Formats: sequence, C-alpha cells, structure tokens
Amino acid sequence: MRKDAWVSILFCFCFVGGIAAAQKPSTGSENILYIRCDTLIDGKSEAPRKDVVIGITGDKIDLVGAAAFTSNMRVINLPGHTCLPGLIDTHTHVLLQGDITAADYDVQLLKQSPEYRTILATVNARRALEYGFTAIRDVETEGAGYADVDLRNAINRGVVPGPRMEVATRALDVTGAYPLLGYAPNVAVPHGVQVVDGPDDARRAVREQIMYGADWIKVYSDRSYRVRSDGVLDDIPTFTMEELRAVVDEAHRERHKVASHAMALNGVHNSVEAGVDSIEHGNYIADADLKAMVSNGIYYVPTIFVGEYVAQGRAAEGARVWPQMLKIHEGTFRRALKAGVKIAFGTDAGGFAWTENPAKEFGYMVRWGMTPAQAIRSATSVASELMEMQEKIGSIEAGKYADIVAVPGDPLADITVLEKVNFVMKNGVVYKHP
Ligand SMILES: [Zn+2]
Repeated sequence: MRKDAWVSILFCFCFVGGIAAAQKPSTGSENILYIRCDTLIDGKSEAPRKDVVIGITGDKIDLVGAAAFTSNMRVINLPGHTCLPGLIDTHTHVLLQGDITAADYDVQLLKQSPEYRTILATVNARRALEYGFTAIRDVETEGAGYADVDLRNAINRGVVPGPRMEVATRALDVTGAYPLLGYAPNVAVPHGVQVVDGPDDARRAVREQIMYGADWIKVYSDRSYRVRSDGVLDDIPTFTMEELRAVVDEAHRERHKVASHAMALNGVHNSVEAGVDSIEHGNYIADADLKAMVSNGIYYVPTIFVGEYVAQGRAAEGARVWPQMLKIHEGTFRRALKAGVKIAFGTDAGGFAWTENPAKEFGYMVRWGMTPAQAIRSATSVASELMEMQEKIGSIEAGKYADIVAVPGDPLADITVLEKVNFVMKNGVVYKHP
C-alpha cells in the first residue's frame, strides 16, 4: 500500500494543476481543446459515428462534429480509438476492500480505523477514475460512518482525484440482521449499518443521514437466502412494511432517493410496494414485481460479476446457496430485459477487491442477453438518469460536462475492450492518456 500512497500524492499535484488550467476563462479558439476520435459512441444513439471531433472549453463540451484544424489548435489525437461518455458505476463501496468471507469483512471493521479505511478509499476512488468510471453512486460505507461524504467533498474541491460521487453514508437495517454478528452478547462490536427499529427510529435515521450529507438512503431489505423446491430464491425480509414505508416517505419528502438491497422474493416485493427508487442485486424478482418496476420507473441494478466472484468462497464457508444463485440471477436478468425494466450498470466494487476492473460486468450483461450498445447505455445515459444527473453527464453532447473516455478498438464488436480504457477525461481534465 505504501507504494500506492506515493503514487496518489504525486497524482494529486498534477490534478490540482490540471483543474487550475481548465478553469481559466475562455478568450478565444486557442482555449478550446479538441479530441479526435476514430469512432464515437455518444451514450444515447444506437449507431456509432465515424471520425468525430469533440471540442471542449473549460469543463464542458461545446461541440461534437467536425472541425477545420489549424496549427495553433490544441488537439488530442486518438487514432484507432472509440470515444464514449465517462462510464458510471451505480453500485460501489469505496470504503470496502473485498469481503468474500465473513472474516474478510469483520477484520476491516475490527482492525482498521475509519481513518485508515478512508485513506484506502482515496486510492480506490483514483482506481475507479483510471478504470474509466468518471461517476459512481457509492451505496454505503460499511461501518466507516460518513467518510464517503468527506471523500466526495474532497474530490469536488480538487484535493484528491476521483469520480463524481453520490453517497449513501451508513445505510439502514434492523437489529440482528447485519454484520458484525456472532459475537458474545457482552462484547460490543461495530455494525456495518445504522441499526433502526420501528418507523419513528427509521425516520429519525433518514433525517440524520441527510443532515450529515447523504445523497441517497440505502436500506438492506432482506437476508438469509435459500432456494425453494420450485426454484424461487426465498429470503427473510428485514423491515416491516411500516418501517420501509417510513424510510421511503421521509427520504422522498426531503427530495432524496432510496436504494434497496433486495436479493430475493420478499425483499424485492416489499421494496417495490414501499416505492423505493432502485432494486440492488435482485437475484430473483417475481414477474409481477418486474411489471410494477416498469410502471413505477424503478431501476434494477443487477451486480452480476460480484455474485460469481464471491460464490465459491462463500460456498466453502457453508453458504451453498451462492453458486445456485447465479442461474437464478441469469433468469431474472433475462426476464427483466424482456419486460423492459430500466437496468443501470452497477458492480458492487469493494465487494470484490478494487484491483479487479469493475468493467468486467459488461461481459456478463452481454452474455446474459443485452446488446453491447444496451450495456453501454446502462453505464452512461441510463445510469445518469438513475443518479438524476442526465442534464450534466451520461452522453457526449454540447453543454454536458467533459467526462470522456476512450478504448482501443470497437466495444460494439468486443465488449471486453471496455476493460482497457486508456484515455480518461473528467471535467475537461485529462487523467490518463494512451
Ligand atoms: Zn453493495
């Protein structure tokens, strides 16, 4: 980690310089920066465009099309590359370093201080940006309090490099439902969530989290998974309907949205009934609930790759349901796609180590039935709508923030080239160049 920390510090100085340069007022065409792309996938259209120039002034895109070049113009040439909007991961945990087993999780909460975990989170934020993710929705800190708010603010103020962040702070669950669990009753241990019981307590926690900077409210709606004889993934719902409704009502009343961890039958059903804004994981979703998600505009964030990543490790620990869940998940994903549910790209990075590229998720989405163009939109325009940032990011068009990535080759022919992002611009500042 020591080596990584030094890289981070060096990077930080470049970054601050970059921001200063990018924010100079524009006085003429010499202040426009041009990117020449062999191919452009703009995040919205079905078809790519050839030989496109993107003009950038300060932190915004101000032209997409063609330009006549003169010798005094600032141009970044990306021959052989496809340009895309900066990628968006709508389910991350920058405060987590992978938790295949319960021990992996417990050790982070018991042996690492929140301050140390925050230092690791700054490294993860830089990694996310270098993988090509220029925006993330980070859905809870797993026992590290409000450290995500501080990281979001530090990135916005140019202190450390990282993606744009929406954060969910501590998340909510009920007594006895979320780690750390299994310790003696006389031993006080930290919890990965804010524990709430009863609708008034839930409402108070929502108010508290918003007061301290939460953009989203995250709830854990189910636990204890098992496959029924008819193949349905069953669970124990954590909250009562009264509690879940109180959370959603309070968050919405304060103009905030609710993300619900719901992997199986009852957790998903109760979340949909209560009116949450996104279903996280959704390994099994009943057809009736998929229909309700379409009519109520509830997003599905499937997080496929993490399921495979943790399956064998968790089975070895005795939780044999995890490998079985993959097939069930594939069936749900295909039914959701067919039903027309809005599917936003999300990976659960942090649930797997940040040294793994979260862009591996794209390959799974395509293998399970999406077209490459659909998978790309799920991580660009669709994800920006989930985050209510569609006016600012999620596509390459004039007026949007200059969040642009490029890959060598054609992601429509081979989706895995998205694991090879080698050009990253966020806010008009270049962080990575081939
Ligand atoms: Zn998660």
